[in-house]
Amino acid sequence: MNPEAPTGEAPRISFVSLGCPKALVDSERILTHLRAEGYELSRHHDGADVVIVNTCGFLDSAKAESLEAIGTAMKENGKVIVTGCMGAEPEQIRNAFPNVLAITGPQQYESVLGAVHQAVPPAHNPFVDLVPPQGIKLTPRHYAYLKISEGCNNRCSFCIIPKLRGDLVSRPAGDVLREAERLVKAGVKELLVISQDTSAYGVDIKYEASRWRDREVRAKFLDLSSALGELGAWVRMHYVYPYPHVDAVVELMAEGKILPYIDIPFQHASPRVLKAMRRPGNQEKTAERIHRWREICPDLAIRSTFIVGFPGETDEDFEFLLEWLDEVKLDRVGCFKFEPVDGAPANELADPVPEEVKQQRWNRFMKKQQAISAARQQKRVGRRIQVIVDESGGLSAKGRSVWDAPEIDGNVHLVSRRPIRVGDIVTAKIDRADAYDLYGQVV
Ligand code: SF4
Repeated sequence: MNPEAPTGEAPRISFVSLGCPKALVDSERILTHLRAEGYELSRHHDGADVVIVNTCGFLDSAKAESLEAIGTAMKENGKVIVTGCMGAEPEQIRNAFPNVLAITGPQQYESVLGAVHQAVPPAHNPFVDLVPPQGIKLTPRHYAYLKISEGCNNRCSFCIIPKLRGDLVSRPAGDVLREAERLVKAGVKELLVISQDTSAYGVDIKYEASRWRDREVRAKFLDLSSALGELGAWVRMHYVYPYPHVDAVVELMAEGKILPYIDIPFQHASPRVLKAMRRPGNQEKTAERIHRWREICPDLAIRSTFIVGFPGETDEDFEFLLEWLDEVKLDRVGCFKFEPVDGAPANELADPVPEEVKQQRWNRFMKKQQAISAARQQKRVGRRIQVIVDESGGLSAKGRSVWDAPEIDGNVHLVSRRPIRVGDIVTAKIDRADAYDLYGQVV
């Protein structure tokens, strides 16, 4: 520790965070380090000493958004450091903006910090503890994303994430649990577990056990889920694949230890398309698996995403998908029209689907799913359920049920006789529902 007195005013950083929740967690880590070193955060580019742009390179549209954000930062400030997924392909950024100070790839925290130090050295004050123990969160105080691994061992043909982020690297269970504990202690009521493939957690480190509290916890999806369930917060699982070992985690959901919610990106149902997509998991048995999960945990909500218009998708494949939707009756579903991603093997596949056919299929898909979601929502009318409050106007509020993740799912609109606060978990009676949202009163 350098016992020097503080060296003047703290340098200011303006930060732009683009992309998925995983990128958001990276942003939080960078900001936490910088705050620990005494940097201040600036709301505007023009008052900052340097701007960091954490980019997303998943789709061409995301790349365009990233380039636009870099352009704005260059115009309004001029001292810009670029990091994140798009940083894995620096030429594109250099060609458009030759004067950016530095470009680093995803998870290269050290390089980002090094670039910041070089651009504007920290004002050192070792006597002031600038960082709350839970770090800096970009999400509201009552929920937080918990990243359990980086990278992915799958090689889906439409995806370049393994190329950008490498193979699966799991965090030891003890580390994840300590971070989760700190978050809960700091007021977080809901932990959103994320990774590229949550059900593959620990495969790379041979499920190695690590110390947490007074015991050893294995780096296994089931063991980690069970330990997280002891923390007294809502625990929500994202990006799970339908492997057989997930059944035991659904049992934890049935016991109320973690939320009865699974986010599974199925992407398609037709075995032919899934094969062309090179999707993981035994997809042919997926419908059976879903029925089994619903037997174990009747209250389970399943959310998923799909791609229509994948190269080679025939009318039969698409009809198969619609019938499958009818059979499995998912709760929440997002659908994308296939879009080629630079560098993805799927771009080489024969028989691209014309844009107007993609649009028609998308319309039919959404119509079918909307009816399914609406019917599932109706089953919740009349029930008393727990709701976590995201926004409050005192006697009216907007929150989410255990079946709704923030940002991607629906809301519960509430009225109350007594004031309710953001982050409260209240009991509400549901009076009505539409395809997305529930409406009720606090009891
Ligand atoms: S599972 Fe497939 S889509 Fe998801 S990150 Fe891995 S390769 Fe990409």
